[in-house]
Amino acid sequence: MRTVQVDIAIAGAGIAGLWLANLLLGRGFDVAVCERSKIGGTQTLASQGLIHGGVKYALGGTATHAFEAVSDMPRRWRACLEGAGEIDLRGVRVISERYYLWSPDAPGARLAGFLASRLLHGRVERLSPSEYPQPFTGQAGTMYRLDDFVIDVAGLVRRLAAPLQGRIFPMAVEPEGLVMRHATVCAFESPDIRVEAERFVLAAGAGNEKLASAAGAEAHMRKLPLKQVLVRSSDPEPIFAHCIPGMRAEPALTITTLPGYHYLGGALASDGAKRSDVDQIDAARQELAQALPWIDWSNRTFDTLSIDRAEPEGPRLEGVFVETHENVLIAWPGKLTLAPGLGDRALRALA
Ligand SMILES: Cc1cc2nc3c(=O)[nH]c(=O)nc-3n(C[C@H](O)[C@H](O)[C@H](O)COP(=O)(O)OP(=O)(O)OC[C@H]3O[C@@H](n4cnc5c(N)ncnc54)[C@H](O)[C@@H]3O)c2cc1C
Repeated sequence: MRTVQVDIAIAGAGIAGLWLANLLLGRGFDVAVCERSKIGGTQTLASQGLIHGGVKYALGGTATHAFEAVSDMPRRWRACLEGAGEIDLRGVRVISERYYLWSPDAPGARLAGFLASRLLHGRVERLSPSEYPQPFTGQAGTMYRLDDFVIDVAGLVRRLAAPLQGRIFPMAVEPEGLVMRHATVCAFESPDIRVEAERFVLAAGAGNEKLASAAGAEAHMRKLPLKQVLVRSSDPEPIFAHCIPGMRAEPALTITTLPGYHYLGGALASDGAKRSDVDQIDAARQELAQALPWIDWSNRTFDTLSIDRAEPEGPRLEGVFVETHENVLIAWPGKLTLAPGLGDRALRALA
């Protein structure tokens, strides 16, 4: 069996594990990342790549705690993308510099007032119809431009993995593979490899709960099932928008476009988890017809993608979850967007 000795061993190579590994490597720590399947993780590679300041959580008309936790994140990400942040993300492609809020109707007075409030000053801008981007040009409806953007998640994963060459080990860290000595973890062990370290980080997304419990910590998790929808067409006109028919407090559709398909999330995906694939595709067609009725959706191929979001239990979207137990740190970012906040908290906890 091969033995590797490092300062800090990390379980999971999603955004949490990769971000923390880069941060720690940059501070001179010797790190190893153990990943049981694909680099880029389960949720990370399935995400919509939206780096946002939380406006969508405030659509109810008040600034929640979650809104405050994420509001500075787009600025932090932009600094990284320009090579002036805590992690050098130069070269990662921004797929869309802008994100939009779109409603085919007029927003309610309360919501319109909130979107125009001082709190959102400079981060939300109401557009006049002459400013609507394609494919909204010439349409009747209401549009706001948000200070959010969309990144190429696959490119982000490649960029974060590059400095970690030779440090990412294909290895499932099973609960029984946590080698304990006097109530502290001293190694991750599989039949082929043993990774010994001073400190351990559990950044295994849905795998975290079992690992935390094996390490003697309590970290209760919940899974939020989603059924995302992919609308394939040969050359889709890009759409980057939350669609809010009637300007409800939650986007019915959150649309990002990748080469060959539109990727639909939002309430459609959370409400659709219980639907059959056929019913979910019908629901997607209805939502699209309501939100973007001038586009012909009939000749597209629809697919679904079922995936769980894994989050710590507790009030939803309260920000990142970082807890320490002996020499183990348990980390859940809650959102791709929150990776810089996760880094701050983890560094403080490891100090
Ligand atoms: C459909 C969808 C869309 C989303 N869109 C957005 C968005 O647009 N913007 C945003 O900010 N957030 C978004 N999110 C949330 C965001 O993607 C997640 O919060 C984030 O990616 C979680 O990262 P993670 O590293 O904790 O988990 P993951 O990405 O799931 O990574 C965990 C890794 O740990 C590995 N692992 C698990 N168990 C073990 C084990 N025992 N041993 C070794 N490895 C193990 C897994 O294989 C996986 O690679 C979205 C989530 C989903 C599901």
